Amino acid sequence: MTISANNSIATTGLTILGSTGSIGVNTLDVVSRHPQRFRIIALTAHTQVDRLFDQCKEFKPMMAVMKDEEAADQLKKRLQSEGMQIEVKFGLDGLMAASTHKGTQAVMAAIVGAAGLLPTLEAVKNGKRVLLANKEPLVMSGAIFLEEAKKSGAQLLPIDSEHNAIYQCLPDNYIAGQAYEGLEQILLTCSGGPFLNAKPGTLVDVTPEQACAHPKWSMGRKISVDSATLMNKGLEVIEASWLFGVPPSRIQVVIHPQSVIHSMVKYIDGSVLAQMGNPDMRIPIAHALAWPGRIGSGAKPLDLFEIARLDFQKPDMKKFPCLQLAYNAAEQGGTAPAVLNAANEIAVEAFLERRVGFLDIPRIIKHTLQTANISKDITLSSILKEDSAARARAHDYINSNIKGVA
Ligand code: NAD
Ligand code: MG
Repeated sequence: MTISANNSIATTGLTILGSTGSIGVNTLDVVSRHPQRFRIIALTAHTQVDRLFDQCKEFKPMMAVMKDEEAADQLKKRLQSEGMQIEVKFGLDGLMAASTHKGTQAVMAAIVGAAGLLPTLEAVKNGKRVLLANKEPLVMSGAIFLEEAKKSGAQLLPIDSEHNAIYQCLPDNYIAGQAYEGLEQILLTCSGGPFLNAKPGTLVDVTPEQACAHPKWSMGRKISVDSATLMNKGLEVIEASWLFGVPPSRIQVVIHPQSVIHSMVKYIDGSVLAQMGNPDMRIPIAHALAWPGRIGSGAKPLDLFEIARLDFQKPDMKKFPCLQLAYNAAEQGGTAPAVLNAANEIAVEAFLERRVGFLDIPRIIKHTLQTANISKDITLSSILKEDSAARARAHDYINSNIKGVA
């Protein structure tokens, strides 16, 4: 929140990296409910020219960024034909310009995957307030993010619903990354995904459509598959470990199919604090946009009588080996989480393209980790090097060991 001299709430300049995705669209929905409070400075998309054009028409940013020159030219022509003066950029330079724009105070990091690493880190280095949805960069290089945030004074506010919940259960002056003395354990809740009650033998034939049909959340395709394999929860264990300064051994995954409790913090005095709400990403988004105040999100209020009961169970690591692989990589540390993430991105992409089966996903990740030369040296260059080497090994494994499934 920015307070102006006369004590009224000033407008916050906002960049949204990945504005055409699920988180991006939800962010714009919350912003549109508070037009006096936010000014959209920059919007970025990968290939969706039409969607970004519509968003530009509605929110009139100062800058728009596309994947490449061709897409940028298409967008530019359409904007010019409507008489709109918006600077159009492309590629990594464009994303960097959007995340560091001088009119931007807050950056919503909502690109999917490792592609968001460099522009998000640049926002951190520039001392912006970073609303972090894009979990993969933190999984790959959490130590670097936190170190840079400390240097620049950038504030990190988690958007992932579980991490946002944990953040809300910590004291008001809590700074991301610091170990909090009274915290004993994090209880990271998990819906269980679409296959919670499926018999293990049936998972071999799962299609991308079935994997993407999440029972509680509507999300992008990559995170939907991650939720079906429970790799999403594995990535979130690593994310929580960095954001809250807690080792993975003190993070317990709790299957909670109703998805009403978004996570809990167990304190040493025996208190357990939880944050609750309907499963709607506009709630954590509104929390982070207005922090430390509160604004309306548009989400349906929680009706406990309608929910009636809350269930909890332990995760089945045998049925969902991706979760165990993530815990192992988190314990191993160094570049292991980056290798895990890279292999997972390649495996999920191949699954969505029907080149591999659902149960091949953990096999590909396991192979990529087993053949990795894990380094304890976590510099940005060692991480990026390991990331691309892991992608190449995962590709090779798919090409030489797995027959197409389509
Ligand atoms: P999505 O696929 O719906 O959207 C991704 C956005 O990133 C789009 O705007 C797309 O154009 C852009 N993009 C994709 N690849 C790109 C690239 N190579 N370069 C630049 N831009 C690119 O994804 P999503 O579901 O909105 O998820 C975004 C991030 O937020 C992910 O890291 C995900 O794990 C995290 N997250 C999402 C949810 C959710 O409810 N969707 C919840 C928690 C965390
Ligand atoms: Mg989550």
